[in-house]
Amino acid sequence: MTEAPTPPDQRTAVVTGAARGIGAAIAARLAADGHRVAVLDLREEDTAATVEAINNSGGKAVGVGADVSDADAVAAAVGRIAAELGPPTILVNNAGILRDNLLFKMTDTDWDAVMGVHLRGAFLMSRAVQAHQVQAQWGRIVNLSSTSALGNRGQANYAAAKAGLQGFTKTLAIELGRYNVTVNAIAPGFIETDMTRATAERVGVPYPDFVAHAVAEIPVGRAGAPADIAAAASFFVREDASFVSGQVLYVAGGPKD
Ligand code: NAP
Repeated sequence: MTEAPTPPDQRTAVVTGAARGIGAAIAARLAADGHRVAVLDLREEDTAATVEAINNSGGKAVGVGADVSDADAVAAAVGRIAAELGPPTILVNNAGILRDNLLFKMTDTDWDAVMGVHLRGAFLMSRAVQAHQVQAQWGRIVNLSSTSALGNRGQANYAAAKAGLQGFTKTLAIELGRYNVTVNAIAPGFIETDMTRATAERVGVPYPDFVAHAVAEIPVGRAGAPADIAAAASFFVREDASFVSGQVLYVAGGPKD
């Protein structure tokens, strides 16, 4: 029996921080779109549920453990992904952490940890993956920014990192465009995940009240779900989105600026 030809839009995608939350939804969506997906998170064992869900639905996924802020770990992970799934040409920089505090209480460690995962992580992953994209003369990078990039009390580190990712996105779009690589950012508003649950806990507000408070400010009248962000990522990754680059898309149930 001859093997079925590979559809032209079947690529290898890497989604960081994909063990849960928004990353898991993006990984599932890209797999449903026909791509092979590397589900990358800090610990490989934590990726099992995401990987299993994809493989059980007829997709192809492998779990990879790596700290995106560690250059050696990133190089090893991207090398392994290329060997196991084929050269990665789609990258979603989604891994993220919060270390919220008002400026006068924010420690050096809080600052460095957030910069390390969001900014250094996106830099290291993008640098490693672009080698494969340039080789393939095709690629997609999607970075997860946030409405916090516009300023948010208690998040000087996170807001700076998420605003930084917007400048990073636009610069990579300029540098990599000639290789048919598009680079865009999604800036989610309030999305129900462990991250928003942790914030509610930190500020001491019961989660349902915390959600209701957020929803009161959202024009479409509901909280966001990880699938809302996955739909935006799916669009940026599409073959026919090749003229959309260097953009920041606020996915927040209403306008943001
Ligand atoms: P989440 O539920 O906390 O998931 C984040 C994932 O990233 C976790 O699996 C985490 O692993 C992983 N991760 C953390 N540090 C890592 C590292 N150094 N290397 C590899 N993986 C790492 O967060 P989420 O709500 O889905 O958010 C996903 C992205 O969207 C983040 O960039 C976040 O800033 C952004 N975002 C979220 C919202 C929202 O409302 N939820 C809004 C705007 C933007 P561990 O579990 O081991 O820590």
